[in-house]
Parts: sequence; structure tokens; C-alpha cells
Amino acid sequence: MPELPEVEIVRRGLERHVVGRTIDSVQPLHPRALRRHLAGPDDFAAAVRGRKVTGALRRGKYLWLPVGEDALLAHLGMSGQLLIGDPSRPLTPHVRVRLTFTDSGPDLRFSDQRTFGHLSLAAGGAVMPAPIAHIAPDPLEPAFDLAAVTARIRSRRTGIKRALLDQSLVSGIGNIYADEALWRARLHWARESQLLRPDAVTRLFAAVQEVFAESLSAGGTTFDSLYVNVNGEGGYFERSLAVYGRAGQPCRRCGTPVRRDPFMNRSAFSCPKCQPRPRPRP
Ligand SMILES: [Zn+2]
Repeated sequence: MPELPEVEIVRRGLERHVVGRTIDSVQPLHPRALRRHLAGPDDFAAAVRGRKVTGALRRGKYLWLPVGEDALLAHLGMSGQLLIGDPSRPLTPHVRVRLTFTDSGPDLRFSDQRTFGHLSLAAGGAVMPAPIAHIAPDPLEPAFDLAAVTARIRSRRTGIKRALLDQSLVSGIGNIYADEALWRARLHWARESQLLRPDAVTRLFAAVQEVFAESLSAGGTTFDSLYVNVNGEGGYFERSLAVYGRAGQPCRRCGTPVRRDPFMNRSAFSCPKCQPRPRPRP
């Protein structure tokens, strides 16, 4: 599932290839991709046609393209891809929505194999779309306030990994980068947020920002081959992952086999030696 670095790479591609262009036509090919646009696919197509794209913005795992005062809002879900290419290339089976532009240049296709992603038009959402206004700033935004987030995390009686995944506390972090940042900060995923010292939380967010930056420069993580940039190319950060998806393989720091625990219907990967399990509370 794409997390912040992958979505940021898609945003940069849209900024480069779509901003400044005017949408000529909209072809909704699968209604599920537009289920969040409550007025329906035909309304979406009519409302978006003729609009000029003036920017490409992101918060956490959401992307939006300001069009006038409104915004074309996108979430990639598990397998969504926004692809730019020659408008005459054949339509592949997973393309859910196709947008063409008045300059007859490359078109934009929203392809989504598993159909958890969605597009919608958010009225008045150019600056901040209402459907995502409740989502907390992500660690790469200027609005991210480390002191405030640290205080909120330390007021929660929950495991630290669960807190990192809570998009109302901090956005953009998913399963992969949570595990990687916890490994770098030498914190076990079940450590209770409330009991963490402020300097441990600071260390953890420094690790989050570091792993995001490294992933961005490697083009993101294409763990399940579903994430690609707007040109259809995968990233190669999965080769640098320290723990995620590496159960039984040696920790890159100490050589101890990486452990995989069940976590919220998924998994948590950690090093048993570098990230000791917390002692139960007396
Ligand atoms: Zn280790």
C-alpha cells in the first residue's frame, strides 16, 4: 500500500505533467472509483470537464489538484496508480477513470486493481479539501508540530505503533515505515505511548523523517509491485528495508533473526535484540 513517500512521488509527477493544463474530457470507466463523489460519475465528469489544474498538493496519503476554488481529490488506496502517457495507448483492464487534456498531450489514467482508491471533486477544497480537513499534518509538512505531537502521543494509553498509524495524530505513516522507523529508533512496537520519554519520541520522528527522505530518493517502496510513479516505474527502497517483510532474516544491525508478530490483522516486524519487548506493567 502506498505510504507518504510513494504518494509524494506521484504528487511530484502530477506537478510536472498536469499542472497548467486544462481538462478536456472525463471518462468514468468504473463507478466504484467515484463512489466518494456522492452526486455520481456523470456529475463528476461534467463538473471536472473544462477545468484548469493549478497545482498538485498532498497531505498524508491524500493528493489533490486545485481546479479553480475546488479540488480534484485522490486516494490511491491499496493499488491505485495515476499514470501519464500517450493518449492513444490501449486502455488496460484496471483503468477506472481517464482524463484527457485540451492540448491533446499525455492523458491521465486512474488505474486501480483492487478498487480501494477513489477520486472525487471537493467543492471549495482548493486550499484544503473538507473530507480530509480532520487529518493531522504529516511529518514532511511545515505545519507538523513535533512538540504538540509528542505531547499528544504521550497522553495516549496505546502502543506506539498504533499511535503512529493514527491519522488524527500524524498522517502519512503506514505499516512499512512505522516498522522501519521503530527499528531505527530501537523501540518495540508495543511500547506504551504514555510511558515513552519525550526524547524517545523525538528520536522516533527523526527516524520517520530520515526513512521518508531515503525512500523518496530511492523512488519509494514497490513492495507488492502495485505502487508505481506517474510514468509506470517502481521504486527500489524495498531493497533497503531493515525489518519490514524480512521475518527470519538477520537484523541489519546485530544479525539476530527479524521477528514477525501479528498486529491489527497484519504484521509487525522487529528485531528481538535491538527492540526488546516491553515488560508488563506492574
Ligand atoms: Zn538487531
